[in-house]
Amino acid sequence: MRDHVASRTSVFNESVIREMTRLAMLHGAMNLAQGYPDFPAPEFIKEAAIEAINGDINQYAITWGSLRLRQAIAAKTKRFAGLDLDPDREVTVTCGATEAMMCAMLATVEAGDEIIVFEPFYENYVPDAAMSGAKLVFVTLSSEDFSFDPAQLRAAFSPRTRAIIVNTPNNPSGKVFTRAELQQIAELCQEFDTLCITDEIYEHILYDHHEHVSIATLPGMYERTITISGLSKTFSVTGWRLGYLLAPPHLTNALRKVHDFLTVGAPAPLQEAAAVAIERADSYYPELRDMYGHKRGILLNALREAGFRCHQPQGAYYIMADFSDLGFEGDDTAFAHHLIEKVGVAPVPGSSFYSGHGGDKLVRFTFSKSESTLLEAARRLAAM
Ligand code: GLN
Repeated sequence: MRDHVASRTSVFNESVIREMTRLAMLHGAMNLAQGYPDFPAPEFIKEAAIEAINGDINQYAITWGSLRLRQAIAAKTKRFAGLDLDPDREVTVTCGATEAMMCAMLATVEAGDEIIVFEPFYENYVPDAAMSGAKLVFVTLSSEDFSFDPAQLRAAFSPRTRAIIVNTPNNPSGKVFTRAELQQIAELCQEFDTLCITDEIYEHILYDHHEHVSIATLPGMYERTITISGLSKTFSVTGWRLGYLLAPPHLTNALRKVHDFLTVGAPAPLQEAAAVAIERADSYYPELRDMYGHKRGILLNALREAGFRCHQPQGAYYIMADFSDLGFEGDDTAFAHHLIEKVGVAPVPGSSFYSGHGGDKLVRFTFSKSESTLLEAARRLAAM
């Protein structure tokens, strides 16, 4: 008998991040692996969802998103990025940023096209590229400060390049791309006539003086950029599956066709709640920053005291930690398993964010957890 499995599924594996969550549960470890909050979402968004269900908003929304939500997203994008978007032609609501990225690739990439991605990268980009038939070309960020070498970036571009993926603030590195770096990327996109697909799901989670810049706002970029964001991280509702795509009308047409036949649409009552939340959130964003700034401090201290060398994140809610000084013999996967089983704290092995042999002395921890979870993890790390 044939195995009846399509070859496209053989070029990627199950999510390592979610595997670590399963292992954490199995061994009773504090789950600092998967990036989702273990604390409640803000009251105002929960109440809005309850109201929406009680108000009988329970059938399909318009496939590209309820008008109120698209208007709220457009208004917020105007306030924060200064971009004037038409909610009817340039905003599409999806089932999470995950669907948005898959949709972006399926709508724009031909089989055999190349897509440039910086590594370390978020693990989804590999299966997304495989399922759309694209080949990824990696540009490795410096292990010192996650900067890129402009010459290496230029060398990655060619007539075969269809798109570059930018993710800022970055998962897993915590890097926030500067305006000058984005400018260099933008110039190459224009010189080689490529698209930019930018994943900005952590746009409101920033530290110190770091500032979020959307590449779509740089001169000459709006027409060639697909911007992805969503509600999951900002409002601590990763299970609601609400993301969105911002793109000029000709790209939005293609994105909406793909989205329609992938999922029809995101959950209607939750879209209503999302609209209410975004309309009211301007005073909430600074609170979110402060909350995560505090959590970052707790985990950074705990990891440094335990002997890890850590990159201090500029944004998002992950810490890449180097365990070279801890005297552990094995690689990152062996170390992650050791930490889960013997110490009771679950990270993600660093190699899941690299294409080749990178990351074998790194593990990623998330601090998107309650203070009690982080303090218990700190206690266990201190006892290590
Ligand atoms: N984005 C989160 C992370 O990187 C969650 C990943 C997932 O399970 N989709 O950990």
